[in-house]
Amino acid sequence: MKHYSFILFYLFCNVFIYSFQGSFWVYLFCFLMFSAVIVWGSFDIRLGYFVNSITHKRTKIKEVALTFDDGPTEFTPKFLDLLKENNIKATFFCIGKQIEKHPETFQRIIAEGHTIGNHTLSHSNNTGFLSTSKMIEEIKKCDEVMLKVGNLKTNLYRPPFGVTNPNIAKAIKKTHKKSIGWNVRSLDTITEDEKKIYRKVTKGLKKGSIILLHDTSEKTYNVLVDLLVFLKDKKYSTFTIDSIIKN
Ligand SMILES: [Zn+2]
Repeated sequence: MKHYSFILFYLFCNVFIYSFQGSFWVYLFCFLMFSAVIVWGSFDIRLGYFVNSITHKRTKIKEVALTFDDGPTEFTPKFLDLLKENNIKATFFCIGKQIEKHPETFQRIIAEGHTIGNHTLSHSNNTGFLSTSKMIEEIKKCDEVMLKVGNLKTNLYRPPFGVTNPNIAKAIKKTHKKSIGWNVRSLDTITEDEKKIYRKVTKGLKKGSIILLHDTSEKTYNVLVDLLVFLKDKKYSTFTIDSIIKN
């Protein structure tokens, strides 16, 4: 949904209120509806509400993308070992501050041929409330760390928590990034139940799916072990996100 939809909705509300002679309750109803739509739009990356995020690949073949957010961490080397054993390339959306903590792991991700994306410098919990200039700084500083530690530049960006809003949209545009979402969520940061995470991922899988995972726990590693078996069984190949972006 684009900005003109807001304006149309706003006009519609005004006409609606007018026809009800300015009833306070009608006004309140419209206001709440309007707010709910905006909040929902900010948090669900699949809607592409403020930013056109790429959420899948258009493809006719059975292929999916594994994406890992919030690393590198102490668990990342295990993930890399497993991917290497299976000869699979993934995409890692790294946090600048985590790269500073685990520079060698970051270099190893690159050396082993995986794709890297920017996931901001600090992955602030206030991401949804930062100003445009602060957001630009978050993205640029992550770029600087990547260049310094890995001699790497990326135009891929994944919004922390999948949150987008007009400020974030402006920051993405100003830093010339492509916003990358997902269409299969694992909820691996929310639930502790490995079987549940596995079911959630495998159930929603389609040709061209982008799967969101996190290289931040043993639990997700265990899920990945089973997921790779599943992909092999169902004859899914994998792609990295840079293969979708035409530049
Ligand atoms: Zn994240």
